[in-house]
Amino acid sequence: MTEPVRPSRLVVLAGPTAVGKGTVAADVRARHPEVWISVSATTRPPRPGEVDGVHYWFVSDAEFDAMIAGDELLEWAVVHQAARYGTPRRPVEAALAEGRPAMLEIDLQGARQVRGTMPGALFVFLKPPSWDELVRRLVGRGTESEEERERRLRTARDELAAETEFDVTIVNHEVHEAAEQLVALMRFDSQPMVEHSPTDL
Ligand code: 5GP
Repeated sequence: MTEPVRPSRLVVLAGPTAVGKGTVAADVRARHPEVWISVSATTRPPRPGEVDGVHYWFVSDAEFDAMIAGDELLEWAVVHQAARYGTPRRPVEAALAEGRPAMLEIDLQGARQVRGTMPGALFVFLKPPSWDELVRRLVGRGTESEEERERRLRTARDELAAETEFDVTIVNHEVHEAAEQLVALMRFDSQPMVEHSPTDL
């Protein structure tokens, strides 16, 4: 079976908290400069080593409000009840117009919004190898209270249930392998391991 030729493809990567989306996206960034990866705006402060314009656009609440008011965001959400995160619309449109493969790494709330506005995108769910592994990654640090731990586990269970909303599932056994599977989904010349039927851009 040959893949239909398409000018470009937008991949939206989402998945439960602590599954390793950011690490997989970083691996794609490091090894596949041909893939354009969206830089989100966020109201959370930078962590040590994070660079404005590279990891995120770090903005104030007022700046984020202005981006919403100006319809500059493709989607946005409050994540972990803590900060707002959003995808600047224009750079995504520019990358797609150039024909570059493009990727958004966002949370589930954001992915649901993009489903509504960019129906041609391919929605990829990153899944942990097992429930036990996700629990280990979530509570591994042992720094959270019992209550916080329970809250995170409840959230993770709900998030895992969202898999059926997605076009494709990639199991994050190993970061590099997951990243390569993701990039294969954006390639014109390879046959990805599609589990449900994807839509072309
Ligand atoms: P962190 O603060 O650890 O970098 O990211 C926290 C969460 O925010 C991750 O689950 C990440 O996927 C999500 N996130 C990052 N950028 C965006 C965005 O532009 N929109 C949405 N909806 N979520 C985002």
